[in-house]
Amino acid sequence: RMASQRPDATRVMVVANQKGGVGKTTTTVNVAAGLAQLGQRVLVIDLDPQGNASTALSVDHRRGTPSTYDLLVDGAPLSEVMHASPEHDLLQVVPATIDLAGAEIELVSVVARESRLRKAIHAHPMVGSADEVGEERLDYVLIDCPPSLGLLTLNALVAGDEMLIPIQAEYYALEGLGQLLETVEMVRAHLNQALNVSTILITMFDGRTRLSSGVAEEVREHFGDTVLKTAIPRSVRVSEAPSYGQTVMTYDPGSPGALSYLEAAREISTKGAPA
Ligand code: ADP
Ligand code: MG
Repeated sequence: RMASQRPDATRVMVVANQKGGVGKTTTTVNVAAGLAQLGQRVLVIDLDPQGNASTALSVDHRRGTPSTYDLLVDGAPLSEVMHASPEHDLLQVVPATIDLAGAEIELVSVVARESRLRKAIHAHPMVGSADEVGEERLDYVLIDCPPSLGLLTLNALVAGDEMLIPIQAEYYALEGLGQLLETVEMVRAHLNQALNVSTILITMFDGRTRLSSGVAEEVREHFGDTVLKTAIPRSVRVSEAPSYGQTVMTYDPGSPGALSYLEAAREISTKGAPA
């Protein structure tokens, strides 16, 4: 399989949408696996106390496992909470334990509470440009956000350069997006000027229904080239994979869902980081 070119510097991508069930976690783990298959070094940070991304990537997330909680609340270095994923040699994971549910509240009294994640990521020796870090650098950090706009998601928005917003091709798809984009503007104005909505991915697309096609068309009209050409089809194989502790990329690599996620990963890598 053709490797794709590595970015000049680590790309930190936040996968966010405050709606639940739109495909954030599915997109995070499958795009991560796709990028790894294309020869990219990838770190997934699970920022959802449910730990679904950790499960899908088969990384332990029982209480006591070094996790995102330790990173955010105790200031543990990133290197101490990273775990290898059996999914791919180039893929590592910071799992989320249920303790993370308390972090929203525990962080309230902490100094610079919204930039804890940014600090942790940028302090890691393998994050940075080719000149600074060399061959061993991480190419992508993908952050899987919880379905809310609380302090956890805020930490991700402050930490990231780019946002990847999955949009489910269903009625009400655009509802709530305004609020998300307002939050992005607030973050850009006050906390992280560099934040850029670089990528929108249409998920759970069903080409047989007019509703799904209509929504996809509306999203493309609204967001133009930010929307990836590849849409992810609704497929049972995609939803089955996590129960085997796998992404669909290894569970059923030839399935339409896997091929689409690989193509989405290739598009992300080919488009490159926004200038
Ligand atoms: P979120 O992280 O935004 O809450 P998930 O990624 O957990 O969303 O997806 C919600 C549900 O939809 C899950 O049960 C998942 O397996 C399922 N799902 C996601 N993408 C697809 C798809 N392309 N085809 C079928 N089911 C999907
Ligand atoms: Mg999720």
